[in-house]
Amino acid sequence: KFLHYNAEDGYYKTSPFEPITVPNVPLHQYVWRDFKKWEKKTAAVCVVSDRQYTYAQLRDASAALAVRLQTKFKLFKPDVIAICMPNLPEYPIAALGAIEAALTVTTVNPVYTPDEIARQLTFSDAKLIIGTVQGYATLREACQLAKKDLPIVVVRTSNDQALPPGAVDFAELIRTEDVRYDELRSPSDASADDIVFLPFSSGTTGLPKGVVLSHNNITSNCEQIHGGLTINTLEFQDTLPGVLPFFHIYGLTVVMLSKLGLGCRLATMPAFKPDEFIKSLDFYKGSVLNIVPPIVLFMINHPKLTQEIAPNLRAVMTGAAPIGQHDVERFLKKFPKARFMQGYGMTEASPVVLLTPEGNTRYASTGVLPPNTESKIVPLDGDNVKGLGPRTTGELCVRGPQVMSGYLNNEEANKVTFYPGNWLRTGDVAFYDEEGFFYITDRMKELIKVKGFQVPPAELEAVLRDHPKILEAAVFGIPHEVNGEAPRAIVVLRPNEGATAEEIAEYVAGRVAHYKKLEGGVIFVDEVPKNPTGKILRKDLKAKFSS
Ligand code: AMP
Repeated sequence: KFLHYNAEDGYYKTSPFEPITVPNVPLHQYVWRDFKKWEKKTAAVCVVSDRQYTYAQLRDASAALAVRLQTKFKLFKPDVIAICMPNLPEYPIAALGAIEAALTVTTVNPVYTPDEIARQLTFSDAKLIIGTVQGYATLREACQLAKKDLPIVVVRTSNDQALPPGAVDFAELIRTEDVRYDELRSPSDASADDIVFLPFSSGTTGLPKGVVLSHNNITSNCEQIHGGLTINTLEFQDTLPGVLPFFHIYGLTVVMLSKLGLGCRLATMPAFKPDEFIKSLDFYKGSVLNIVPPIVLFMINHPKLTQEIAPNLRAVMTGAAPIGQHDVERFLKKFPKARFMQGYGMTEASPVVLLTPEGNTRYASTGVLPPNTESKIVPLDGDNVKGLGPRTTGELCVRGPQVMSGYLNNEEANKVTFYPGNWLRTGDVAFYDEEGFFYITDRMKELIKVKGFQVPPAELEAVLRDHPKILEAAVFGIPHEVNGEAPRAIVVLRPNEGATAEEIAEYVAGRVAHYKKLEGGVIFVDEVPKNPTGKILRKDLKAKFSS
């Protein structure tokens, strides 16, 4: 019933669910639409320090920040600000405050090196950074590398933490005393199609690129996933342990924004630490959980973490990387009271484009199309973009209100990322069955995913090429039992040079975020396999050097 055919697209699938209405309002208005109903309830609490904000406090602090970003820093549409902080209760204040001021937010991974941050500051042209006292020195260094003298606002996570000289105190910007809310300017040309987020993703190839996501992209995706799980707020308030990083689209949309819009309590954790994670389920009684496969494995294997420790846990959703069917079964054996869900998505789609429905037992499937989402599976050779029928494997392409308009200032990448008719190419290999369930079977794009984090090979190859002894290098992923994948490099040394694998791996480790390290090892070769136009033949690399 939801399989269609036309001459141009071939076979394509539509969602089995009733359509949603695209909200068509600014994202902060969408998130706060019902907040009065639960204004006295806790919106966000820090699992480490117990520092917390009610919905009313979070709402007022965001509005105060919005006013001060405009009046104190003269930031207005279309300016961009960067948020580079771990998961703290202040994260939503920073994001929603900037959005209320009609600014665009680029979210930066707080474990990035100064170099990695500097690149994002440059590409996004950010005008201000919000971070933490702990991250201040790194942010300063990043600004110097990017040759930008940006205001750096820092969250102090405890009262005895001193403000570093030169930093701006976040607490001062969110003070609700002496703030004139009527000073807030809404641009006359504001539209829900304006860009709200600029996260970075490497997409199907190359270096990270700015993903242009609008208010409507994000609010649509929130609406599209709401049907998948009901959140309780008024009598019993659901708690969601906020362990997935908010800088990544999965944590940002699915955890932070969608759940704050529904009155959920976020129990935030700055990093994944076993004891804190257990505390979020035990002491804070986490009831709804969004995680990635390595955390699913952790939950299966950790002896202390049992159903008794997590008495309220009723729904668990994994995504961002593949999970094995047997792992799901092992998880459900240990946590029989939890409903298990899987989602599939990507930064370029806000992110969710597939979600398992209620009552699902096809654990190998990443689910069905949520409302307003269409997809087709096209042959892998790229010559023919006509959709294939059921049970035929090809590249998954998707279309819907959650799909980005494109990469920022990158026509070249946009041309190869979309097929005619606005079909976003996912770079993932998939098929669907007769019931409309999708199965991701492989990844054809070069991207490596470690613990659900993006590791673009092009980035590591550039770092390797900067090594004085290295002539050429190519990086690809090999399977890793816990992390999903691990980056492995093949390296051609310059003539008459010698180096050890450890030396090269250490060199890389000193220059990249920890999860990008060459955990998969370094192999020395005489040449990197390439096609006649000089493109690295990644399929050959995997076939030849994976074992
Ligand atoms: P990101 O943009 O960082 O969210 O990465 C998106 C990519 O992660 C997708 O294109 C897939 O390759 C992979 N991915 C996300 N969710 C899943 C899933 N449930 N199963 C398999 N791969 C996934």
